[in-house]
Amino acid sequence: MQPRERRPQRRRREKGGELVLPKHFDKCPNCGCTRRFCEEALKDDIPAKELEEHMPVLQSGEFTIHPPGKLFPVRLMALMDVCVACGTVYAVVLTKEHLRPTLGGGNGGKRQGPPLIPGRG
Ligand SMILES: [Zn+2]
Repeated sequence: MQPRERRPQRRRREKGGELVLPKHFDKCPNCGCTRRFCEEALKDDIPAKELEEHMPVLQSGEFTIHPPGKLFPVRLMALMDVCVACGTVYAVVLTKEHLRPTLGGGNGGKRQGPPLIPGRG
């Protein structure tokens, strides 16, 4: 009783094939487990609320480029962590930011705190 679905690409077209950022991956692409190394390992050390606000990730990959003709550079980031069930390293969040110069205060936009990345800051 399944509707005919002979195109395997069908799921990819959900949003017109467009990449919508930020993109979150909430589980391991290999085994489907939702438990990640940093969160698990830190849950006795950092209050749950804090963990929620500043999601810890093991590693980040960054790429900044100043597109010709644009006013501000663009930064792409992939935040990665490790599945505690199978060890797969996977991207948890993919983001894109326009690096506008910050003017003191008055930004108004509600922004999630930056992720905690060991070895930074
Ligand atoms: Zn896994």
